Amino acid sequence: MTTLVTGGTGMVGQHLQDYLCDDAVFLSSADGDLTNSEDVKYLMYHYKPVRVIHLAAKVGGLQDNLKHPADFYNKNVLMNTNLLVYAHEVGVKRFTGILSTCVYPDVVDEYPMTEEKLFDGPPPEGNFSYAYAKRSMAVQIDAMNKQYGTKYNYIIPCNLYSEHDGFYHGDKMHFVTALLQKLKDSNGHINLLGTGKPLRQFMHSDDLARIIKRVVDEDITESFNAAPDFNMSIKEMAKEAIDELLDKNVNIIWNQPELDGQYRKDVSSEKLLKLMPDFKFTSFREGVKRVWKTLN
Ligand code: NAP
Repeated sequence: MTTLVTGGTGMVGQHLQDYLCDDAVFLSSADGDLTNSEDVKYLMYHYKPVRVIHLAAKVGGLQDNLKHPADFYNKNVLMNTNLLVYAHEVGVKRFTGILSTCVYPDVVDEYPMTEEKLFDGPPPEGNFSYAYAKRSMAVQIDAMNKQYGTKYNYIIPCNLYSEHDGFYHGDKMHFVTALLQKLKDSNGHINLLGTGKPLRQFMHSDDLARIIKRVVDEDITESFNAAPDFNMSIKEMAKEAIDELLDKNVNIIWNQPELDGQYRKDVSSEKLLKLMPDFKFTSFREGVKRVWKTLN
């Protein structure tokens, strides 16, 4: 029984390698370009997997999304569509796609957001094309389940961070890992973007890998959110990281308030915790300690 993991060399993929080592094949873009239907057809017929975990995506920060909206839409829609079409054609029994909480509506009446709110309004303007591409994968999966009776699903995780993050990748860097690198390099002060007021949930990528492992082992076919229950301001997160990791104070200089993004976008993990009642998220303090150890 083969599990095919796309995006197996990415941040989440590297964590998943710790949990699905025996009978899984971890793909990178060197194995094929998933935006190319011939490459995907070849991979699916070659491996004939029973299960697909689809992690691969064109992922990027706000600046990258603003500059290249067509790339974010086209590449993600092509990857998702090619994979779903050929997975179904070769008889894949289980397919798990990964969305993101940043695809939820920009503003809703009630927080934290439950899975039913996914289509309740337009996503934030700054990443509308990435968001619509990811929402489309949810539509494709739901539609295939309806028409073909498949049991494919998707997970909707919040922002992630990890020691496997690429750190300073310009537009691509993730907030928590970039913050820690800045703290490591600081000589008493650091510059951060925005005002520090927006609220965010951040999950260590290892948690998402452990959730995916449970989906596989327990054959879970429902779709659900995945986020720890804290919803801290960026300022609070920076303060917690400084308290936990440094024995000196660091002055934060906030720049470009217009780059704050959404004020909040927290989601509920109630459904996940019904499916896996004993699941424990890594606390923010534990997660940053883990990443800190790997910084040079
Ligand atoms: P990542 O580190 O950027 O890795 C992306 C992976 O996708 C890499 O293995 C890359 O292969 C592969 N890939 C990209 N384009 C490809 C293409 N055209 N053909 C084949 N492979 C391609 O991503 P991640 O942070 O692990 O994210 C994993 C999933 O979680 C994504 O679906 C993402 O949308 C979702 N997610 C991420 C976050 C976050 O904060 N990072 C939050 C919520 C959801 P190469 O290494 O060979 O280029």
